[in-house]
Amino acid sequence: MDLGIKGKVAVVAAASKGLGKEVAISLAREGANLVICARGEEELKKTEGEIRDRFKVKILSFVCDVTKREDVEKFKDFVIDEFKTVHMLFTNAGGPPPGGFFDFEPEDYLKAINLNLMSAIYLTYAFIPYMKEQRYGRIVASTSITVKQPIKNLILSNVSRTGVVSFIKSLSNEVAPYNITANCVAPGYTMTDRVRKLMEDKAKRENISVDEALKTITKDIPMGRIGDPSEFADVVTFLLSERASYITGATIQIDGGYYRGLM
Ligand code: NAP
Repeated sequence: MDLGIKGKVAVVAAASKGLGKEVAISLAREGANLVICARGEEELKKTEGEIRDRFKVKILSFVCDVTKREDVEKFKDFVIDEFKTVHMLFTNAGGPPPGGFFDFEPEDYLKAINLNLMSAIYLTYAFIPYMKEQRYGRIVASTSITVKQPIKNLILSNVSRTGVVSFIKSLSNEVAPYNITANCVAPGYTMTDRVRKLMEDKAKRENISVDEALKTITKDIPMGRIGDPSEFADVVTFLLSERASYITGATIQIDGGYYRGLM
């Protein structure tokens, strides 16, 4: 299947490592021109160089903290200066710290909302005018399986991400006449540094080894294993492609069956 991605411009946020990096790799494999961002310059430049060397695509990077609107606006100016427009947007950021109700103060929720909800809103406001103008666009917002099934000891993630689903669903209705689709993806446990850290935290809290912590997680996953980032990225790439033209307003879980509900 030709995904119709070759030569189109993709913005991939929070992409120096982990899920964002894997999305950038998957899009590069399909021949997209890319602009990636993250806060740490060293890792970001390393990723930019690695993807350019492997796939020979045009890729640029920009240091940007997606929780800051002024940074996102500068990021947008950089992308538009270089490429004039954007066809695909993947919104993403880091994850809030693990913990439950008694571990946090109300201000911590605000920080998590800035990280996971406001970042998606800033990025969408920045790039959507170009999609509207050209009457073509694909937006995929990364959330978490916590939007369908809250996870113990991840109260900040559980709370801060559900607004993204509401935002994207509401947006999708308004932008559909401009041939713009907007969807969410909800990853389950996928092996990245973030998950390694969550496993270390669980091991410490429950006084068990990291291996045991991993086993207690995988026993709740019907596929019996943690996901590979490429399994996440391939779904995102399809949703960002021309082929996914009649999917909008959806939230698609990529979780090896971890979510127990029906819909
Ligand atoms: P990761 O391996 O820790 O990578 C996070 C990436 O985001 C890095 O490139 C990081 O670079 C960048 N980043 C973090 N904060 C940023 C900010 N404020 N502005 C710009 N870039 C930022 O994490 P991951 O596993 O890929 O997770 C990505 C997101 O998916 C997180 O929100 C995570 O909670 C969520 N998620 C992950 C899983 C999973 O199983 N992996 C499951 C559900 C949800 P810098 O630090 O240099 O900025």
